[in-house]
Amino acid sequence: MFGLVVKNTGSWYTVKTDDGRLVNSKIKGNFRLKGIRSTNPVAVGDRVEIAVNAEGTAFITEIADRRNYIIRKSSNLSKQSHIIAANVDMALLVVTVNYPQTSTTFIDRFLASAEAYRVPVVLVFNKTDLLTAEELHYQEMMIGLYENIGYECRAISAETGQGVGELARMLAGRISVLSGNSGVGKSTLINRILPGVNLRTAEISDAHNQGIHTTTFSEMLELPGGGYLIDTPGIKGFGTFDIEPAELTGYFKEIFMFSKDCRFSNCTHTHEPGCAVLRAVEEHYIAQSRYQSYLSMLEDKDESKYREAF
Ligand code: GDP
Ligand code: ZN
Repeated sequence: MFGLVVKNTGSWYTVKTDDGRLVNSKIKGNFRLKGIRSTNPVAVGDRVEIAVNAEGTAFITEIADRRNYIIRKSSNLSKQSHIIAANVDMALLVVTVNYPQTSTTFIDRFLASAEAYRVPVVLVFNKTDLLTAEELHYQEMMIGLYENIGYECRAISAETGQGVGELARMLAGRISVLSGNSGVGKSTLINRILPGVNLRTAEISDAHNQGIHTTTFSEMLELPGGGYLIDTPGIKGFGTFDIEPAELTGYFKEIFMFSKDCRFSNCTHTHEPGCAVLRAVEEHYIAQSRYQSYLSMLEDKDESKYREAF
């Protein structure tokens, strides 16, 4: 029997079988996935096979290869990781020009980490109902900037519902994660899309991320139009990910494009002669804010410092 893992309580996994039933399952044996030391070998979004034993207990016996997965280190010290979700089609990053203002550094770090995971991002500019003409103008500039790079953007108001219907249609039939700083309106948006659902009660102790006692609970919300939304603690940003400085260029799409013309193939785009990226920044083909975000990630060699920035 095959199905999709829709909920992970730490000890049980709820599998939605292909014939539409919800089956609470345990893990068979000791799954060890190549290269990952995680606290949960199975994650929401995993396609699995289950079998029921003589006592009537369901066990997950196979996990299908993952297209991608989002991982978070359980603590600064341990090498253990927690897989937040697998097979993610899309990430919605909710941002606000004001109340509170989302920094471009935060956005760019998120986008870079999403590139690393090969998860397409839609930038959702929320609270448009609160913005002054000047703020709306700034928002238009931001949307122009990110659309030029190739990111889809939407301006909405979770409060009034403006733009939410269109956004909800984008989610249909896909597995999406909902991210964004606290206070930007994620819960409000969920309540618009799925009235009456309050997944945020799942946050328990996880916000404090004490390491050892990290909650492993996560759940996918089934959407009325098909598809799933994952709203789980720990994906305010994509948390940790291991980006080597040399790889970083590849995660800033427009910087990567210009870097092909740099004189040196190992150019870091900081000081080198013949650097096409530096020239493009000077000539405003690359936004100053994007370049600053690139530099801040490049300088952030200390991984723990790096994590706290999320
Ligand atoms: P979360 O921390 O991201 O889940 O944010 P919440 O959904 O809890 O929203 C934080 C506050 O912003 C709440 O008081 C919401 O009512 C308010 N809020 C959320 N979205 C909007 C919006 O589009 N417009 C306005 N005016 N307020 C909003
Ligand atoms: Zn360069």
